[in-house]
Amino acid sequence: MNRPAVPFVALAVGCLLPFLFAAAAGAAPAAAAVLLAVASNTVLADVVTSVAGAKFQVRALAPTGTDPHTFQPTPATIRLLAQARVIFFNGAGLEEWWDKTIRSVKEPAVPVIELSQGLATLGISGADHAGRDPHVWLDPISVKTYADKIRDALSGVDGGNAGFYAERARAYRTALDGLDGWIRSEVQKIPPARRKLVTFHSAFQYFARRYGFAVEGFVVASPGKEPSARALAELARRIEQEKIPAVFAEADFNPKLLAAFARDAGVKVVTDLYDGSLSDGPPADTYINLMRHNVTQMVNALK
Ligand SMILES: [Zn+2]
Repeated sequence: MNRPAVPFVALAVGCLLPFLFAAAAGAAPAAAAVLLAVASNTVLADVVTSVAGAKFQVRALAPTGTDPHTFQPTPATIRLLAQARVIFFNGAGLEEWWDKTIRSVKEPAVPVIELSQGLATLGISGADHAGRDPHVWLDPISVKTYADKIRDALSGVDGGNAGFYAERARAYRTALDGLDGWIRSEVQKIPPARRKLVTFHSAFQYFARRYGFAVEGFVVASPGKEPSARALAELARRIEQEKIPAVFAEADFNPKLLAAFARDAGVKVVTDLYDGSLSDGPPADTYINLMRHNVTQMVNALK
């Protein structure tokens, strides 16, 4: 229950079976042949697994239900990084703990891939720090670029399976296109004037831009910051003015503040969007399921 070990987020069953089989047959453990890939959080670990299949064991550093911005690395985090053959993080300022953590790994002579690199990022309006918005992955079209980078990195480490990774990446891109089409048709169920988002932290700009929502506000510009009374009053005024039907909180963060606020402002509150962490099991146990769940919640609350 209390074990500090980072969970086997994405250890595919298909990866476990040959291992058991080999052990039963008395052969050399197949696990030795499975390479370790590490991703900074569970969402990225799922995307990596989608490309890697069972050729890599993929582990996440920040476990499910933790905030990927402010995750506190443990000695287990460092051990995992030291064993990895390839390391993935989002970048664009998401992982506030990243630089220090990577520096503490002895001889990180393996590729460290910043998945958001090269993609245009947006600023965070109203932020009191000059930050960029790191939540690029909430636009599935950008995740196609993540998949390409993952394919290239895995092929660089394990060139013998380059064709396998290319095929997996191609299939995943097709799945992301399917997700994109599904979201577009779902969003049609919301009257255009009601396609407005107010969320706990500012995570949905890329999603909103792709699917024609207006981001009307957020309670905190970035996690760990307390909103001022003035900012909350301003947001309440805006919700009334813009006739915002509902506000959304992310499951990774304490929803109490937004719930109390929504009660005062007289709007519906939805408290289980996911952005920087998967859930253990449904509804957001993969990146694609996370997106489908969020969109379903939005459509139900706003239509
Ligand atoms: Zn976030």
